[in-house]
This record gives sequence, C-alpha cells and structure tokens, in this order.
Amino acid sequence: MEVITVKSTAKAQLIDITEEVARKVKGVESGVCFLYVPHTTAGIIINEGADPAVAQDILDLYQRLVPYDYPYRHLEGNSPAHVKASFTGPGLSVLIENGRLMLGTWQRIFLAEYDGPRTRKVYLKVLEG
Ligand code: ZN
Repeated sequence: MEVITVKSTAKAQLIDITEEVARKVKGVESGVCFLYVPHTTAGIIINEGADPAVAQDILDLYQRLVPYDYPYRHLEGNSPAHVKASFTGPGLSVLIENGRLMLGTWQRIFLAEYDGPRTRKVYLKVLEG
C-alpha cells in the first residue's frame, strides 16, 4: 500500500491530487487503483478540474445543504464536516490501461476537505491485471 499525504489550507477545500496518484501508479500497465481516505471529515471525489469554479460550486452548495447553524447533537462541533464527508464517501477506484489512469478528459481526483486545515492521508493500492 502507498500513502499520499495532503495538507489542506482552508476549512473546506477540494484539492487536486491527480498528479500524485499518477506518479504512484507509474509503471503499471493495466489494473485498478483503489483510493481510500481514512478520515471522517474528509473524502475523495472525481469531478471536473478544468474550471476551478466547479469545485467552488460543489463546496458552496454543500455549505447551503449543511449549514453551520443547525442544532447538531455531536458535541465536537464539526458535524457539518461529518455530514459532508458522508455525502462524498471515503473511497473510489480508477482503472489503469496502457499505463494511464482512465480518467475522462475533464475528470480530476480531489481530496475533499471539510474540517481543515489539516494534514490528511490517502491510501492507495493497485491491483495489476
Ligand atoms: Zn467530530
């Protein structure tokens, strides 16, 4: 297993980790890359990376759906981040063919931070074949 370390710099942030993932799978001709975020207030998504406004729209809408001023029960004070992380999910997989991540033209892989700034980990495992 490999680990990618990501440092977020804001409370909520989508951080493009596509190049780090591509470096980790270099030399793999064909297989599946599994990515897993071992955190409860962060997640991982694939979405458009060409226009940064898309990432901001996603974060803005999540913020409207999960406001800070709801009467949450969790006393740690970060319930909105837990809820947003549950929307996002902790893991995904990407196919590798001909030595490349099989992402679509506009797709990028993002660590989704909802309770930053923090240092986060992304676990990565490749099954070749
Ligand atoms: Zn909490």
